[in-house]
Amino acid sequence: MDKTLYAELKKIYSNDILFEKEDMYPYAYDTSPNPENTLLPEFVVFPVNAKQVSQTILTCKKYNTSVIARGAGTCHCGGCRVKNKSVVMHFSKMDKILEINKEDLIAKVQPNAVIKQINDEAEKQGLFFPPDPSNLAVSTIGGAAALSSGGPRTFKYGSTKDYIINLEVVLADGKIIKTGADIAKNVTGYNLTSLFVGSEGTLGIITELTIRLIPKPQAKKVTLAYFDNLIEATQAVNNIINSGFTPATLDLLDKNTLETIEKFNPCGLLCNKEAALLIELDGFSESLNIECKKIFEILRKSNAAQIVQAQNEEENEQIWRARRSAFAAVTKLKPNVITEDVVVPRSKIVELVKGIQKICANYNIIVCIMGHAGDGNIHPNFALDLSNKEEKENFEKAKDELFELALKLEGSLSGEHGIGCEKKKYLKDALDAGAVEYMEKIKKLFDPENIINPYKMF
Ligand SMILES: Cc1cc2nc3c(=O)[nH]c(=O)nc-3n(C[C@H](O)[C@H](O)[C@H](O)COP(=O)(O)OP(=O)(O)OC[C@H]3O[C@@H](n4cnc5c(N)ncnc54)[C@H](O)[C@@H]3O)c2cc1C
Repeated sequence: MDKTLYAELKKIYSNDILFEKEDMYPYAYDTSPNPENTLLPEFVVFPVNAKQVSQTILTCKKYNTSVIARGAGTCHCGGCRVKNKSVVMHFSKMDKILEINKEDLIAKVQPNAVIKQINDEAEKQGLFFPPDPSNLAVSTIGGAAALSSGGPRTFKYGSTKDYIINLEVVLADGKIIKTGADIAKNVTGYNLTSLFVGSEGTLGIITELTIRLIPKPQAKKVTLAYFDNLIEATQAVNNIINSGFTPATLDLLDKNTLETIEKFNPCGLLCNKEAALLIELDGFSESLNIECKKIFEILRKSNAAQIVQAQNEEENEQIWRARRSAFAAVTKLKPNVITEDVVVPRSKIVELVKGIQKICANYNIIVCIMGHAGDGNIHPNFALDLSNKEEKENFEKAKDELFELALKLEGSLSGEHGIGCEKKKYLKDALDAGAVEYMEKIKKLFDPENIINPYKMF
């Protein structure tokens, strides 16, 4: 333990600082696989305001120590991982919804406000915050903003980046800045807000967010359409969209995913089918009835084997609970689960899914494939035993082939989980060389000494 650094941090945090080795473990990981050489943070601190964050950064800088912001730690790409001597900042004492302004359709929130909590409060005023990382009951708005998280409603509503209009950020030189203004429309100067959103906590620490809200849709209808054939399921997605409909959700679950959910969390999913589409429509009740009827016709024409529509809010929730439990169910198949995230043009989903199945068959890896088919964004959940050397090596090869395939199909490395530590070795394959050069220059401009969440992205 660095005793001098501790003494200085203690002055800022009094008792809101952890230093015992055993207390460090929960703050060293996220949901990505842990490398054998995982480091622990030097200290964990719990700021209550931006000033403390600023003091911490300046103090850490003096002791050549990095600073890593952390929300719920559910990042799949190692964005929260400790790579060198670091202080982790956890925002559990900055978790308030400061204001919901119905007239201006905005809310001001602190970074550790949980997305479900924001939505519950917004709903009380007839408002809605659409971004929904499928783990919205724990995911924080700070983490979601840093990753520009997406989720199942992105097809209709866009992702987190479309709902963040202003940020308070603490920079590597200790300055506290506002990136924009609390207005829905604004093209005054460079769009710094957008630069920070999705920067994976590598450019600065977010201490307050102004988010955009929209009026809450009056009603929703959730349907599961089952198919005997994966190609027909993905074709149905195109048929729905090409007929002029914009469902909030068009998610795909393959047979392995259906079976795994049902095995560990029985909820009546049909496991004798090859694929299912989870379709959520929202809007006014009257128009939803008409839309549903027309979409059912399209599904039948697309050869849906069975269509199950939830009849009430409880049944809606039941379907969503099943969908949200997919990751947890896959964790029970093997000691490790790795959720990957690739994105391709929607027209290439079939090729992507078939390619993933082929890669996994070649390497004898269990995979449960699901994803936001409306966005061309697929999540293969790999069930593995990483303590088995051969399986680990095979997975590394499969991963290389997965990203190679996504790029060959004119897609990219991540639709919503980000790069972190896990995908940085592929970044240069996915982006124009000039773009990477300027991204690195941006990092250097904001953080010349590389102390804010270093060794991520590049
Ligand atoms: C079961 C499950 C389902 C998921 N489904 C989805 C999905 O459908 N769509 C999707 O997009 N993602 C999904 N994810 C991935 C992830 O959970 C989300 O992206 C989530 O929004 C991350 O929030 P968090 O609070 O856990 O962030 P963390 O994991 O704590 O942090 C994420 C990144 O943000 C940085 N960060 C955190 N707080 C700040 C801050 N205040 N200032 C600056 N940087 C900060 C961290 O350093 C890290 O790099 C899922 C994860 C799980 C476990």
